[in-house]
Amino acid sequence: MPKKLTLVLATRNAGKTKEMRRMLEGFPVEIRNLDDFGPIPTVEEDGETFEENAYKKAAFTARALGYPALADDSGLVVGALGGAPGVHSARYAGPDATDRQRCEKLLAEMAGKADRSAAFECVLSLAVPEGPALTYEARCEGVIAEAPAGENGFGYDPVFYFPPLGKTFAQIPRDEKNKVSHRGKALAEFGREFDKVFVWLNNHMPAPVPIGCQAEKKH
Ligand code: IMP
Repeated sequence: MPKKLTLVLATRNAGKTKEMRRMLEGFPVEIRNLDDFGPIPTVEEDGETFEENAYKKAAFTARALGYPALADDSGLVVGALGGAPGVHSARYAGPDATDRQRCEKLLAEMAGKADRSAAFECVLSLAVPEGPALTYEARCEGVIAEAPAGENGFGYDPVFYFPPLGKTFAQIPRDEKNKVSHRGKALAEFGREFDKVFVWLNNHMPAPVPIGCQAEKKH
């Protein structure tokens, strides 16, 4: 039986952690998250791309804790707004605004725009303490609705209309959303590839160096 490898998710979200444990069942890997460790500083998400932010979070966590770490970054990209809110999705209407205020601001910006196409994007970054990383990306195409609809989900879900299902993301159950969403697709690809990822991780994690002060045994 190969030795279990520890993988830290750069999140405190119990739901995400449970989902990842379920997905990697059968692999000799122990999934932990930030709640399993003492306090560590939060990383400022000031990158210009989702990839930069995801890598920043993953690499910082891996370096701080000494284990491989997986982080994600995601957001909504709207063509008619030049890619906004993009990496600023979480703070589009100011640092203390609510999801509802962010959706309202988006609808106001979209008033009169003929092209309402948009996409959610997600980047996953898996980094080892020495720096190298693997990246997974996925997108989910949709349309900005004229008005919010639905109560499920979070963020921009009420204004993100998904044509294949004829509903907004806030009108479909979470399991349905996970099958088609940017994050769901990126995670599914990560899970499908995990046998290769496991080999990569083993090749990139330095073997532990025994430390001690006892004199070397002479034979
Ligand atoms: P983060 O990657 O979790 O930091 O997400 C950044 C922001 O993008 C969130 O605060 C939401 O506003 C938005 N966002 C990301 N994924 C979704 C989604 O699946 N539905 C709705 N909004 C999302």
